[in-house]
Amino acid sequence: MFGKVLIANRGEVALRIHRACREMGIRTVAVHSEADANAMHVRLADEAVCIGPARSSDSYLNKPAIISAALITGADAIHPGFGFLSENADFAEMVEKHGIVFIGPSSAQMRLMGDKIMARKAAVEAGLPITPGSPALESVDDAIAWANKIGYPVIVKAKDGGGGKGMKIAFNDKEMVEAYTMARAEAKAAFTSDVVYMEKYLQKPRHIEMQILADKYGNVVHLGERDCSIQRNNQKVIEECPSPALNDAQRKEIGNIVCNAIKKIGYQNAGTLEFLYEDGKFYFMEMNTRLQVEHPITEAITGIDIVREQIRIASGAALGYTQDDITFSGHAIECRINAEDPETFTPCPGKINEWHAPGGLGVRVDSEIYSGYTIPPYYDSMIAKLIIHGKTRNAALMRLRRALEEFVIIGVKTTIPLHQEIISQAEFIDGQYNIHWLEHFMENHYHKK
Ligand code: ADP
Repeated sequence: MFGKVLIANRGEVALRIHRACREMGIRTVAVHSEADANAMHVRLADEAVCIGPARSSDSYLNKPAIISAALITGADAIHPGFGFLSENADFAEMVEKHGIVFIGPSSAQMRLMGDKIMARKAAVEAGLPITPGSPALESVDDAIAWANKIGYPVIVKAKDGGGGKGMKIAFNDKEMVEAYTMARAEAKAAFTSDVVYMEKYLQKPRHIEMQILADKYGNVVHLGERDCSIQRNNQKVIEECPSPALNDAQRKEIGNIVCNAIKKIGYQNAGTLEFLYEDGKFYFMEMNTRLQVEHPITEAITGIDIVREQIRIASGAALGYTQDDITFSGHAIECRINAEDPETFTPCPGKINEWHAPGGLGVRVDSEIYSGYTIPPYYDSMIAKLIIHGKTRNAALMRLRRALEEFVIIGVKTTIPLHQEIISQAEFIDGQYNIHWLEHFMENHYHKK
């Protein structure tokens, strides 16, 4: 097992990884920007190295600085967390070349899955159902031809896309011209390549994803699904598991398909396969080759520490259990709490004058915040994840309502009031929602109040 792990991230996920390491008797190295010198992840780690100025491109995305920090401190492995360099195959390759273990899949597997066009091809070959789609589009005319072949509506996506960027929907030829041009322009600005392709656009799907774990010896298990349909601008806001839309037989069926596909692809470590789900059918969208923000809800219902498993697998350990050993208990829901105006979503960085996190049975708060902490303006606005576990979905909902009430954050605006609104809606309570529900709700109800 590793003696020392460098955590190439900040915020709550850096704490999350630190906690798993400490429980495994592993020492931790935090890296931080100049703006994060007082951050909790720096305070808790055994060692800390400043890797550059505030801007992410100068610090948390600064590959040579992070690798130097690992070499200087003698870290055996690097955990990338999520965001930043977590899906950067070049970084994983650099880490490998320096004789340090990258806690995640190999750079080759990341490269394959990071390219949406190649990933779709690999998915089909591995037996995963996908949406009808096109290859890389060569021109507007090519785009229009493909759209007519697939049938409108379609969604144009960047080959290297992520974070909901570079995606445009078209319902007819006229819209296609704009969608193609805008998707390419966005892709060019945000990613290394401006190559785009298209998929059939599903009109009322749910977003359901499967968590898998795979070791170096061909053992693969799934930890069930997460329903992440409560989204705004293609960004997840609330996630829950199990999905209110699936029954045990459906879970078993998609679970088997996913595990077989992962074996065929030869993927190793933790990963998530994202699907759209409509009218009883699954459509593979993409695979995330890293830890997901919403992993704690799966931990709640399986009792499996996913970060610990990532570290064990990367160190060469075998899973040590089979699918039959995995049981699902109760229901879990996560709310992502952002320092944002809950109506306009404008980020609200600033000083936290007072902080009281809820507690009690079945309540987990993953956060880097403490009273007196100043949220810097340079990074993601998520400041806490509230993860609730209950025996039933209803029990989890009641507990979530109680915990949101108990949460006190004074000094900045947060999205807590939005979460309170969402969870009091009949559709949410009944589990009757799709990926568009939140945006419709915001338009028709929330903004009118
Ligand atoms: P990213 O990698 O940028 O997160 P994804 O491909 O995972 O992009 O898609 C993000 C979100 O966009 C999905 O959760 C879903 O809400 C929406 N979306 C993507 N593809 C489709 C599609 N074919 N039909 C309908 N909605 C889609």
